[in-house]
Amino acid sequence: MARAVPKARVMRTVMTEARGRADGPPARGEGALAPRVLIVEDEPALLRALRINLRARGYDVGTVATGREALAEARRRPPDVVLLDLGLPDLDGGIVIRELRGWTGVPVIVLSGRAGSGDKIGALDAGADDYVTKPFDMEELLARLRAALRRGDQSPGGTKFTIGAYEIDTAAHTIVRQRPSSPGANTPGDLHLTPTEWRLLEILLNAPGQLVGSERLLGEVWGPGFERSTHYLRFHMAGLRRKLEDDPHRPRHLLTEPGMGYRYQP
Ligand code: CA
Repeated sequence: MARAVPKARVMRTVMTEARGRADGPPARGEGALAPRVLIVEDEPALLRALRINLRARGYDVGTVATGREALAEARRRPPDVVLLDLGLPDLDGGIVIRELRGWTGVPVIVLSGRAGSGDKIGALDAGADDYVTKPFDMEELLARLRAALRRGDQSPGGTKFTIGAYEIDTAAHTIVRQRPSSPGANTPGDLHLTPTEWRLLEILLNAPGQLVGSERLLGEVWGPGFERSTHYLRFHMAGLRRKLEDDPHRPRHLLTEPGMGYRYQP
């Protein structure tokens, strides 16, 4: 039988949980400052909801409603992550991203209210790290935010990654099997990747949990002029999955975001 719980206690429980690690910012060690989130959004109700939710979870939150304010505020107090609405009253979100990328690698998560995927792809190519489509689920946004912060926190020395049964060292260019792959898995003994597969894999591994746009991958691996050659990507991603995934037809780590790009899920 359910017991009546005083309202005050319910609230306290909610607040305590909100401060817990599960949905708060990633742990940063003792004495570290709360991660700073810059929210750029011209819709007052949404801006307010984001501010309240992020503050309740322990983030240090800054808010602005225009692109120019965003650029000024990012310089004044450099954020650890930016939540950026694409449709701003003064500057296009893509321009804001390109301006930021001129001097900072801060993770940028785009909040897109636009139906077409063209704007999102444009934002990813301008240098955004990820996107969520409005209306979005707050929990999903918080998960993306944590992933972006973990990525931003990563030391450049971190070169070891795990995919299924394999430990990959991107500095030594070695892949070592840590355990036998599951019964029926079609991965052979020694693993050798082609130079193209290595370059592709390294870009994805260095953005754990993040969507990496197809054009960006093509531009970085194959170079300028190949941004539309998505069949190259499909071919080489299939090769990586055949080698690294326990079941290449049901990949768990090297995921496709149809029409957008790829994601390494640790
Ligand atoms: Ca807007």
